[in-house]
Amino acid sequence: MGVANDRSIAWGIAQAARAQGAELAFTYQGEALEKRVRPLAETVGSSLVLPCDVSDEASIDAVFDTLAKTWGKIDFLVHAIGFSDKEELRGRYADTSLQNFQNTMHISVFSFTSVARRAAAMMPDGGSLLTLTYYGAERVMPHYNVMGVAKAALEASVRYLAVDLGRDNIRVNALSAGPMKTLAASGIGDFRYILKWNQYNSPLKRNVTLEDIGGAGLYLLSDLSSGVTGETHHVDSGYHVVGMKAVDAPDI
Ligand code: NAD
Repeated sequence: MGVANDRSIAWGIAQAARAQGAELAFTYQGEALEKRVRPLAETVGSSLVLPCDVSDEASIDAVFDTLAKTWGKIDFLVHAIGFSDKEELRGRYADTSLQNFQNTMHISVFSFTSVARRAAAMMPDGGSLLTLTYYGAERVMPHYNVMGVAKAALEASVRYLAVDLGRDNIRVNALSAGPMKTLAASGIGDFRYILKWNQYNSPLKRNVTLEDIGGAGLYLLSDLSSGVTGETHHVDSGYHVVGMKAVDAPDI
């Protein structure tokens, strides 16, 4: 869930999963994105491409009804969905509106719990649920604002879901990706500055790629990570361990 185009994080994970033989279904939000998602899905052998707006519970139900009829059960689910009004992804968090706060929490946080419940019902043999988060949940990042608050709630949801679903051998994890140039990221103020800052100051001295995220996603979805749940796994060139600007970092 969450492919918009070939730069989407969900697409990187889908490709890595397909390379290991996974059979995939995709959801898209709205007709405009269907035109992009369907051809991509076909390149990885998938014709199960379903509309889903996660702000609408009936739309989520329809997806899982179709999955239940088509496959009966599933092994994993990727939730790579987030949204906030871009007018509030600049300026001060203090100025967040109630309406956008609620909408951001609904689409970026509650939707994971909502799909997790339905996906778990289709995982009689256990499974793996994965969502996407960002370091702005843990530390204040310029312009990330209400999305940082939402990601903090999302990471807490991962821990609570991990306990609720662990007895059914369903693992729940978050992948905390470093900044990547995607459609969603283009709404964040001064995003190019954030990209450069991460490149210059992360231990690996580069930004992460879709292949980096795909490999880590595959690990978390597969039995390779069979003992891992409730985790926020950073795939950010190590940026989260750094305490201050690198002495050799150029000015941006
Ligand atoms: P993207 O724009 O490719 O994907 C975001 C997806 O969310 C889109 O497919 C969009 O259709 C979907 N979406 C938004 N509102 C929706 C709704 N109401 N119903 C259904 N789908 C909806 O961007 P991305 O960067 O690949 O984002 C995927 C996830 O990764 C997001 O949760 C984002 O916060 C997270 N993330 C991104 C970065 C980054 O720098 N790009 C870093 C860390 C985490």
